[in-house]
Amino acid sequence: MIARVTLDFAVGKEFDYVVPEAWAGQIEVGSRVKVPFGPRQVRGWVTALLEASPHPRLRPLTRVLGTRGLVTPKVLELARWIARYYCCPVEVALKSVLPEAVRRETAGWRERLVVRVVEGGVGAPEAGARKLTRRQREVWHVVEERRELPLQELVRLTGSTPDTVRRLEDKGLVHIRAQVAERDPYGAETILPTEPLALEAHQAQALAEIRAALEATAGGVGGGPSSESPRASRTFLLHGVTGSGKTEVYLQAMAVALEQGRGAIVLVPEISLTPQTIERFKARFSDGPRRTGVAVLHSHLSAGERHDEWHKIRQGRARVVIGARSAVFAPVEPLGLIVVDEEHEDSYKQEEAPRYQARDVAVLRGEREGAVVVLGSATPSLESYFNARRGKYRLLELPVRVDQQKLPVVRVVDLRQEVRGPKGVPMFSRWLRDAIQARLEKGEQTILFLNRRGYATSLQCPHCGYVAGCPHCSVSLTYHRTTARLCCHICGHTEAVPSACPNPACAHPAIRYAGIGTQRVEETLARLFPRARVQRMDSDVLQRKDDYRRLLGEFRAGRIDILVGTQMIAKGLHFPNVTLVGIVYADLGLHLPDFRAAERTFQLLTQVSGRAGRGEVEGEVVVQAFTPFHSAIQYARRHDFVSFYEEEVEFRRPLGYPPWARIALLTLRGRNEEMVKYAAEHVRREVEAVIAPRLPSLRVAGPAAAPLLRAESYYRYQLMLRTGRMTQLSGLLAELEGRLRLPEKLTLTVDIDPARLL
Ligand code: ADP
Ligand code: ZN
Repeated sequence: MIARVTLDFAVGKEFDYVVPEAWAGQIEVGSRVKVPFGPRQVRGWVTALLEASPHPRLRPLTRVLGTRGLVTPKVLELARWIARYYCCPVEVALKSVLPEAVRRETAGWRERLVVRVVEGGVGAPEAGARKLTRRQREVWHVVEERRELPLQELVRLTGSTPDTVRRLEDKGLVHIRAQVAERDPYGAETILPTEPLALEAHQAQALAEIRAALEATAGGVGGGPSSESPRASRTFLLHGVTGSGKTEVYLQAMAVALEQGRGAIVLVPEISLTPQTIERFKARFSDGPRRTGVAVLHSHLSAGERHDEWHKIRQGRARVVIGARSAVFAPVEPLGLIVVDEEHEDSYKQEEAPRYQARDVAVLRGEREGAVVVLGSATPSLESYFNARRGKYRLLELPVRVDQQKLPVVRVVDLRQEVRGPKGVPMFSRWLRDAIQARLEKGEQTILFLNRRGYATSLQCPHCGYVAGCPHCSVSLTYHRTTARLCCHICGHTEAVPSACPNPACAHPAIRYAGIGTQRVEETLARLFPRARVQRMDSDVLQRKDDYRRLLGEFRAGRIDILVGTQMIAKGLHFPNVTLVGIVYADLGLHLPDFRAAERTFQLLTQVSGRAGRGEVEGEVVVQAFTPFHSAIQYARRHDFVSFYEEEVEFRRPLGYPPWARIALLTLRGRNEEMVKYAAEHVRREVEAVIAPRLPSLRVAGPAAAPLLRAESYYRYQLMLRTGRMTQLSGLLAELEGRLRLPEKLTLTVDIDPARLL
């Protein structure tokens, strides 16, 4: 037998090895193996088992690691698809498919020694007791009562030593055995089980449709009625306003899949994988008659915990998986349902190779494995809503909050009214200050939100709100401090920074960027409200694993009056005592040089607003902006997703931005700007000569300088390719990459369906 193996370090090739007799029974597609490669021993994966190999003189593989294949053939197929579509070697795709901890097996299983009473042994208590020392007797009493307990615990409880326990073993009273002790990241918590709630009418209707799809697919791929459009009958977009009870629909749909003997995966953005969220799923499924087992996969687990959780799934002991992006690859089999919560979130897109979009992978995986996919959001991505409108996905709607709770009142404050002298950039309007003051007096809580991603990129006049934009690309120009010029990083257009506002009705000299981070907001707050307890929450403050949990706990307990933070506090949190949410600069995200800037701002405002008024008291949201009449702000104020969608999608149509086409972003990076630029132009010529003739719909923009990121001393130039046929383009790009000879110090990255253009 021959094993075809892909090696861990990316060489983009597969190698054949002979399987020695001794290992034949243990090897399967997906097995982890050690093989000779040149003088070294390296690790790899078995991707196929063959009768014969086209290559002569094969070396035997050294050993098979582990007893079962780690990746199922289905997941392996998925990895191959990812490699093709996202233009990366299969080995790289496999790295995402399996958590590091499982792949390397460094953590492995944890074993611990357990002491157990020998049943029916010589341990007749009186007989034994007589021959025991006082120490031994104390230890024996504890073991006798507990019947079985970890050695370490026993030693700690009795203040004795392992030697004492070994004496008991010599006397035939107890056994000491090594046992696999699964790490349980949530072991210390008691979670009270919950029962399904009686659904509201809209929820019930959504569930009924999902249930029908689950029933139709229960026989696996091809088992159900083969409809003309399988995707539409199994992929749902659940559009429900914040607080409309989407999670309850997920939970009950999952229960249906479990009843069918199938498993379910729930993807949640990393940021909202809070203890609160995890608990909701654990509470429904960890207990009860079926004791399904819930596995959690995310980056805050230790390597050992991740290893154990993953194996719990692989061995079928956990059939519900909740996790961030990479949980889409969880080896659940058979798979009945994948839920992608907050499907619009950027964090589903991986920013390094393989640059996959987990939401899209979920849809594909569902299609291949006959599973139902539910994408849920209060603010669906334009792509998903577009697919729903065109019948590719089925649209389910939850238009009202559960319990008839009202959506909060959103007040938009025009910051231009607050500008005084030529230098001032206001931070807190009169209105917001009063609103905060009122909350402090009533003992209610406030969340202040600042989108720091917008830091120092666009140029905006604080007096009239004018933003410098590209005349060709409909995105904001980027302000380059070093050259004092404005640049479009899509087409390369540049112009000088104006000395006064170009808006003829304004001409104010105060035009400048307003680069204010969370920290300054905190300082200003301390000055305005010296007695308030203010806590900042962003990645600078959160250094340790438990900080996030701890700070949220403090906030919940009412020991913090005002929480200031970034994206991190926008999602999925539920605080009944928060009655005010303030968005300090709504514009910051709005004028980023990215065609999705408006969409992101709309999403963010809607999500953040959803944090207010989740309790008894009606919530209030104050949005401060220099461009208060921008449609993203106005539609968010009215909680009107559909109108926003319709306007935005029409705006993108003539420019060929998604959802009308797909984008591939080619980035060249290096230390020497001239070289990078030259290489980028070379790549453009190649694209035009080789790819364009084979792909008539292709639009090429650039090369253009990408905005310099922080202290990096690298220059980046980008080319943006747009096409309606991405699968084809991916293949052509892979060919191009293989052929290109770039100078050593330059790197080219290809990002298919990029989430951000920055
Ligand atoms: P969403 O995810 O849509 O923002 P949630 O799922 O968080 O909304 O639901 C908001 C609240 O409503 C939760 O506290 C949830 O337990 C509750 N809830 C959901 N469905 C029902 C229902 N049918 N009856 C009563 N309460 C419900
Ligand atoms: Zn441009």
